[in-house]
Amino acid sequence: MTETANPFARLPSVDSLLAHPDIASLKQCYGHSAVVASLRSSLTELRETLSSQPDLECDLGNLITDCRQRLTIQFKPSLQPVFNLTGTVLHTNLGRALLADEAVEAVLAVLASPCNLEYNLADARRGDRDDHIDGLIRELTGAQAATVVNNNAAAVFLLLNTLAMRKEVIVSRGELIEIGGAFRIPDIMSRAGARLREVGTTNRTHLKDYAEAVGPRTALIMKVHRSNYAIEGFTATVPEGQLAELAHDKGLPFVEDLGSGTLIDLSVHGLPKEPTPQQALAKGTDLVSFSGDKLLGGPQAGILVGSKELIGKLKRNPLKRALRVDKMTLAALEATLKLYRSPELLARQLPTLRLLIRTEEDIRSLAQRILPPMQAALINQAEISIESCRSQIGSGSLPVDRLPSVSLVIKPKGKGGGKALNRLAQAFRDLPIPVVGRLENGALRFDLRCLEDEAAFISQLAMVGHGARQP
Ligand SMILES: *Cc1c(COP(=O)(O)O)cnc(C)c1O
Repeated sequence: MTETANPFARLPSVDSLLAHPDIASLKQCYGHSAVVASLRSSLTELRETLSSQPDLECDLGNLITDCRQRLTIQFKPSLQPVFNLTGTVLHTNLGRALLADEAVEAVLAVLASPCNLEYNLADARRGDRDDHIDGLIRELTGAQAATVVNNNAAAVFLLLNTLAMRKEVIVSRGELIEIGGAFRIPDIMSRAGARLREVGTTNRTHLKDYAEAVGPRTALIMKVHRSNYAIEGFTATVPEGQLAELAHDKGLPFVEDLGSGTLIDLSVHGLPKEPTPQQALAKGTDLVSFSGDKLLGGPQAGILVGSKELIGKLKRNPLKRALRVDKMTLAALEATLKLYRSPELLARQLPTLRLLIRTEEDIRSLAQRILPPMQAALINQAEISIESCRSQIGSGSLPVDRLPSVSLVIKPKGKGGGKALNRLAQAFRDLPIPVVGRLENGALRFDLRCLEDEAAFISQLAMVGHGARQP
């Protein structure tokens, strides 16, 4: 075989490529080994192409572009910002609450610098990481003491493991909930080593059901917020005050998993009321747990408030060490909680609240501004209309009440049905800032409640369908 007859002979060597000025600049950016690995992959692919198309010209420019693209994709973060146009504000799969600017700054400040995480600057002694938020939470909730763990599931787990291991916990059958992502009260309970003692029925539980269940093995009476479902019709639940009284009569603690646990009266902002930890404590609840990244609007965390004695027990459980939060969470949580000292400013400063109370008129005028560029981008591809809709709060908060909102409804033109629709939805997810909507009734729906960066959204519309997914 002559050299020209062998198509592979035309391939440049890795060494010769490394001398190219464009490759040298890639090395500046990504380092030698990543660039070499990429070049090898590009060359391997080109070799495969050449074996089926031996007459293909091998263009050096194309090869370098291919190598650069590989590096760009490799180094692009997997975890990235998206537009949440699903209509669910606190979307668990899309990261729940957005942090306030103050919280973001607080995290940045402690990220790349040492910080007094467990160090008491006043007396140079070892500190407790909970000290950074303990006083603040006590001030805001009226609790005697507080502690923070990784999330509310961890908070419930720690509570049960500490106070009810090898003992019984009395819970109403109507509260044996499952929250998305495999949090089930009975499962958490058994993993924590506690025995579930169900009382009442799905729709009705009475005080005497609880009273009759108390025995020598009872450790706790527990109430769980139903969060993501509602029971309507012939129902009965026992008010917290009565449960607390019963528990205390029997010498037991009464604890409550509040789920979302906002710190303010949401009805002030025109939203449906949610029980607060303050109210639960005022009714005699000894320990309350709630999430940091649901209605509170902070980082993922599980917050426990209650009596000094019980919080002290939780903190002494070795599992607390395994479930503790890091400095980023604490910084974000402290900054978020501080915003609650200025309740009048909360609607502006706390993104979660700002999005939840956004008016339908505001969202409609946004829809009207966005419609023309959307139509221009999808001309020949789809028909777009503006429709009223209802957003959900999400994350198990206020499951029934829904917020009036406005959507863009996008229907692919012509035939192709479901396939065309899926392709369109994919094209939006392939954008530099992926757009996540909802597919419903043969249309792609964008609820605009959570769209704040209008300019960024519009600026990438021209790329819809052109930024084909890289292999
Ligand atoms: C959301 C929720 C949980 C789980 O909280 P995470 O912070 O997601 O771990 C537990 N209990 C209730 C009642 C909830 O609503």
